[in-house]
This record gives sequence, structure tokens and C-alpha cells, in this order.
Amino acid sequence: MSKDILLAVTKLTKRFGGLAALSELTIDVERGKVLGLIGPNGSGKTTFFNLITGLYEPTSGAVVFDNEAITGMSAQDVHRRGMSRTFQRSRLLLPLSIFDNIALGHHMRQSHGLWANLFARKRMLGEVKQCCEEARELLAVFDPDLAGDMSRPVEGLPMISRRRVEICRALVSRPKLLLLDEPSAGMTHDETMRLVDDILLVKERSSDLAVVIIEHEMSVMERITDHCAVMNFGTMICEGTYQNVAQDPQVQEAYLGGE
Ligand code: ADP
Ligand code: MG
Repeated sequence: MSKDILLAVTKLTKRFGGLAALSELTIDVERGKVLGLIGPNGSGKTTFFNLITGLYEPTSGAVVFDNEAITGMSAQDVHRRGMSRTFQRSRLLLPLSIFDNIALGHHMRQSHGLWANLFARKRMLGEVKQCCEEARELLAVFDPDLAGDMSRPVEGLPMISRRRVEICRALVSRPKLLLLDEPSAGMTHDETMRLVDDILLVKERSSDLAVVIIEHEMSVMERITDHCAVMNFGTMICEGTYQNVAQDPQVQEAYLGGE
């Protein structure tokens, strides 16, 4: 059977002045699969996310998402087509409630102008209610307690709960592709293992969802990825299953410290 490619990236390049943060990266993501991106700091992983989500304009190269060319499209347009992400540094609005933070991820927020808001208040209220229900249901998958009171401000929550809120915010728009940038950063080993369970649960609930995860914690990659790509200096140095790439001598030298 031929592969069902959701994201096809061809020779994607981003230069910042003289520095090639990403250099002719060619990679595919299959629908419903989990791809792990491994590589030392500064190897271009986050730049890759910023390029495919429309945050940065590529210097050259092409991105096709769900059979549509999205190269150079705005971040909002890419998001609307079904790509969501979390950020390496948390981007929650700390004084706002759990619900407010999750609602920010909903398309609803972007689809109404002033007139629509004035004249279609009833529909709007209906959508807010629906968004609230969806947020509660999603959050309850991870943490029923957190879903029980979504009016709490995010700033009082422990790290794992904040991450869960961030992941729910990315999922509430029902994306086809979820991008996670170092989701275990700042968490204890125990919290990280719970996060892995969360991600596996998300995958169980929506088998069509593809995930790309950037992560330094190798035990995370081992448990959740179908495929891994290893980056160094803005290029991909090898790809394959986690078992394959972990044994690659180049990878051991560049990343795993020659262990
Ligand atoms: P990673 O996520 O793998 O740690 P990044 O993609 O963040 O790496 O960065 C890759 C390289 O690009 C680094 O050398 C970084 O300093 C540089 N870089 C990233 N973003 C910018 C930017 N907006 N302006 C200039 N240089 C950048
Ligand atoms: Mg990064």
C-alpha cells in the first residue's frame, strides 16, 4: 500500500543573514503517525516548526499540507487548514482562566467580524457553549479534576497541568497535525512519563491525527514515535525507527555523546 502523506516538505531552507538555520530539509509526515525530531540545541528543529506553521517565510523550498501547497501562507491560514502547535516556551496567558486559554485555540475566535458578532450573538453564544463543552471533554481525558473547574487562572497550576492546557488548546480546533516543541521541558521524570501517557491517549482517541514531536528525552521518543529524524547543523543526518537511529554511529557521536 502506498503511504498516505499528510505533510510533504521539500528542500526547505531558512537563512538568517549568513547562518543557514535550516538547509534543504526534505521530509514527509504520514497521516496518523508520530514523527520524532531529535538533535542538539541550535540544529534547526524549532525553525522547522516556525517555517511549516507560517511563522517564518522560507528562504526556499516547498511545503505541501494535505495535498495543498502552503509555502508562504500566513500562520492563521495554516492553522485553519488543520495544523496546531505548542511552543518550546509556554505561551499561556497566566492570569487568564484555563477555559480562556483553551478557547484561544478555537477557530471560532477568528471567523467573526464586528457585524457578525453584533447580529449573530445567539449563534456566537451557542459556539462559545460548544467550545466550552469540547474543552471540558478534552481536558477530562487528561485530568478530570482540571476539567472540573476551568475558571481557575492558569498561573496557579503545576507544570504538568499547564502543559495539558496547552495541548488541549492545540487540540480544540481538531487539527490533522499536532506539533509539540519540547513538551517535557521543565518537568520531572514522573511528570514526563504522565505526559507520554497523555500523548498516547490523544493518539488512541484520534487515529488520523499525525504528531511531530521535538524532544530531548530519549525514553519519550522510544515510547511514542513511529519514525525519527535526526538533525544537526540544519540538516537531517539520518532517519528511521527509533531503534535504527539510536544505533547510528553518527547519531551517537553528534547527539547521544558516543554512548
Ligand atoms: P533548535 O530548536 O534545534 O534548538 P533553532 O531552530 O531554534 O534550533 O535554531 C537554529 C539556529 O537558527 C540557531 O543557530 C539559532 O540561533 C538560529 N535562529 C533561530 N531563529 C532565529 C531568528 N529569528 N533570528 C536569527 N537566528 C535565528
Ligand atoms: Mg528549539
